[in-house]
Amino acid sequence: MTTIHNLGFPRIGAKRELKFALESYWKGEISRDALRALGAQLREKHWADQQGLDLLPVGDFAFYDQVLDMSFTLGNLPERVQDFHGDVLDNYFRVARGRSAQGAEHAQCCGGVAAGEMTKWFDTNYHYIVPEFTAATQFKLDASRLLEQLAEARAQGIRAKPVIVGPVTYLSIGKAKDESNKLDLLQRLLPVYAELLELLAAHGVEWVQIDEPILVTELDADWQHAFNAAYHHLKSARLKILLATYFGQLAENKYLAANLPVAGLHIDAINGHDDVQQLLGLLPAHKVLSLGVINGRNIWKTDLGAVLDWVEPLAERLGDRLWLAPSCSLLHVPVDLGSEQKLDAEFKSWLAFALQKLDELRVLGQALRSGRAAVGSELADNARALAARRASPRVHNPAVQAAVAQITAQLGRRHSGYAERAARQAAQLQLPAYPTTTIGSFPQTAEIRRARREFKAGWLDAEAYRLAMRAEIERSVREQEALDLDVLVHGEAERNDMVEYFGEQLDGYAFSQFGWVQSYGSRCVKPPILFGDISRQNNGTKAMTVEWITYAQSLTPKPMKGMLTGPVTMLNWSFVRDDQSRSASCRQLALAIREEVLDLERAGVRVIQIDEAALREGLPLRRSQWQGYLHWAVESFRIAANGVADETQIHTHMCYSEFNDIIASIADMDADVITIETSRSDMELLDAFDSFNYPNEIGPGVYDIHSPNIPTQEHIVQLMRKAAERIPAKRLWVNPDCGLKTRQWAEVIPALQNMVKAAKQLRELE
Ligand code: GLN
Ligand code: ZN
Repeated sequence: MTTIHNLGFPRIGAKRELKFALESYWKGEISRDALRALGAQLREKHWADQQGLDLLPVGDFAFYDQVLDMSFTLGNLPERVQDFHGDVLDNYFRVARGRSAQGAEHAQCCGGVAAGEMTKWFDTNYHYIVPEFTAATQFKLDASRLLEQLAEARAQGIRAKPVIVGPVTYLSIGKAKDESNKLDLLQRLLPVYAELLELLAAHGVEWVQIDEPILVTELDADWQHAFNAAYHHLKSARLKILLATYFGQLAENKYLAANLPVAGLHIDAINGHDDVQQLLGLLPAHKVLSLGVINGRNIWKTDLGAVLDWVEPLAERLGDRLWLAPSCSLLHVPVDLGSEQKLDAEFKSWLAFALQKLDELRVLGQALRSGRAAVGSELADNARALAARRASPRVHNPAVQAAVAQITAQLGRRHSGYAERAARQAAQLQLPAYPTTTIGSFPQTAEIRRARREFKAGWLDAEAYRLAMRAEIERSVREQEALDLDVLVHGEAERNDMVEYFGEQLDGYAFSQFGWVQSYGSRCVKPPILFGDISRQNNGTKAMTVEWITYAQSLTPKPMKGMLTGPVTMLNWSFVRDDQSRSASCRQLALAIREEVLDLERAGVRVIQIDEAALREGLPLRRSQWQGYLHWAVESFRIAANGVADETQIHTHMCYSEFNDIIASIADMDADVITIETSRSDMELLDAFDSFNYPNEIGPGVYDIHSPNIPTQEHIVQLMRKAAERIPAKRLWVNPDCGLKTRQWAEVIPALQNMVKAAKQLRELE
């Protein structure tokens, strides 16, 4: 009989209960016991939600992050927190968030600490706390958390499958703080894993799930060897190991994965569908093969008929050795479609969130056990919904498809090369050397947020809201004039979020009310759902930003930047279609944004910024696939940007700290000006641009907008001098790292005053 199981469940709660409890605890509003009790309640509820599965994950719950939990289980705490006198949960939050909240216990004796570094979990938008290593790192098992949760699960009468991060993935996603080789720690780490498995076995655990997603990336010989060493070390454990991989294809790691001495292998059968045939030949005859057939990364209903067509013969062949599951932990999807009240019934019938995905899994399990007829009506409903989606005019827009079919290379090309354009733009804009600008947003004040809330609730009518936003725009223009900035922005008061704002104005996008997904700690995002062919409203004619920007321009003779979110960022921060490629959706977005760019230009806007904050996030896990992605991503940006005349200056903005490996593509985007985040890297980041001989203009950030600190004029001058050692001064701009929406006006004004003074000082030195 086919076993059905789950790899992990979202822990934030259908109504984000964990988020609110965490934030209350950090503010000192609820007790630690109350927080712990809520954790236990959520676990109990989530196991109840997963009833009917043969094996349920235990240990997938974390108060902040499962990787940080693993660090605590392995006794790998950064040295700076090791002598903390207080409660271990508080220490855990100290690592997660840095110095504990003001007035917290032990603030006096144990002092403040820096937070652990946070980075993206593979290609998801989930961020984990990076394990820290040095040559001296020692490990020491603390299984208390896992055992406690195991006991709870047992008390609830469920078949528990503890879930842990595997030793090789744990090392590979961590960071050596000295120059040591992380792999040297493996020999020290494995006995602790062995001890943990022994303990779980002693507690009657039959199966443990060990996550090794690093197996879907390219591994050099050392890391392949580490896999063999690790699992040979662990093979004497008196329980069965399900080695779980996900997020991609095993590809060349198939042989390695199939032959590790474990009892079962889980693979992502969505992304790794093509691995299965070969794996069947490679897997030793005693091993379980768990196929992740339900997509844990999107919100679409599974085509159950198609899955059954595929797995029925496999079930025949493998018998008990075939297991089914979602492709990865359901951490990456929202909890319950049932909460949605505003999506219409037809659209909802196309979707599945975590709970609905588990329903699908139960149907598949039953179909394999008792035949399709046993779940005939469920399968029929599923087929009907899928057929309706496939044929729906809401999804398919022939005009958009025709426009995409007509894309030529010409569409992505400016009339002239950068040098020619730069001369024309200089003549037109008359900017001083070291021109100053900002990245787009100004503080989203309490008043702005209140007005938006009241507008959404219907208390404020559209006209009153429009006037309130205009007043904010006027305020930000006046402030910028007083500051004597050179290229102004309207301040983005009217935007809730840089993707949602545009998505709401595009056909082909939908928005959930409760579709929250954990991003890190208590922070969640609600990605919009890109479900259909994309165009602006009214058959592509309705401008999205022109009214706001032209209003802002009308208030000042200085150039006003039009501000747009780019196609690649729209795509990478949305749930996207599974019925066409990402590149196809991206091209549609590009055409829609191109129309907006052209409308702005027609309205007299001479500088247009197209943000591509998330370009890097779309990079595939395997380097060998980077070029393919970068090719269409850059092409999409160029289609969006490059319809304009030479005189119109195109800016783009990116907020990350790594350009070395994608610099050729960044140059290929050919934006006249790129602004980037550099203030904390002391301009070293510009080395990548320098050694590539990056030809266009650059605005390296000189104001760290993540910090309340106000940069001094001297510091900014110093940073810009460093920049000028790498990039010719005449191609440098002066600007903050990113948008200012999370800051207060009281910080922004002195910081920008110093920035403008610094630019003036630099001009005098010229
Ligand atoms: N224009 C956006 C802003 O200033 C850019 C935000 C971002 O890059 N994340 O807020
Ligand atoms: Zn940014």
